[in-house]
Amino acid sequence: MDVFKIILPSGEVWTPQFVEKLNQEKCIGCGRCFKVCSRDVLQLVGIDADGEVVALDSEDDDDDEEYEKKVMTIAHQENCIGCMACSKICPKKCYTHSPMATS
Ligand code: SF4
Ligand code: SF4
Repeated sequence: MDVFKIILPSGEVWTPQFVEKLNQEKCIGCGRCFKVCSRDVLQLVGIDADGEVVALDSEDDDDDEEYEKKVMTIAHQENCIGCMACSKICPKKCYTHSPMATS
């Protein structure tokens, strides 16, 4: 399988690893990945007692609807550039990445 690669100015070949999955069972909703992602891929949401997603308007919890815990979601996977910054900073190893197949 051929995968999408980039040749850096140094001549080094770099293979972007695009975000594929996020394990919400392990996620503690710390928001670190959100802060390092420059591409607007990720979104923090609440999960209520029934396991339903509850939108969070801001990082201020005061007027949010009721939720049991906060977890990160991959809201705009199409924006990912495969830098893996989210994965590197995640303390719970929630992320799975993969290269993009070109053929
Ligand atoms: S790999 Fe980079 S661009 Fe993609 S979600 Fe993670 S931090 Fe954002
Ligand atoms: S850094 Fe990891 S544990 Fe923290 S919100 Fe992101 S995915 Fe969840």
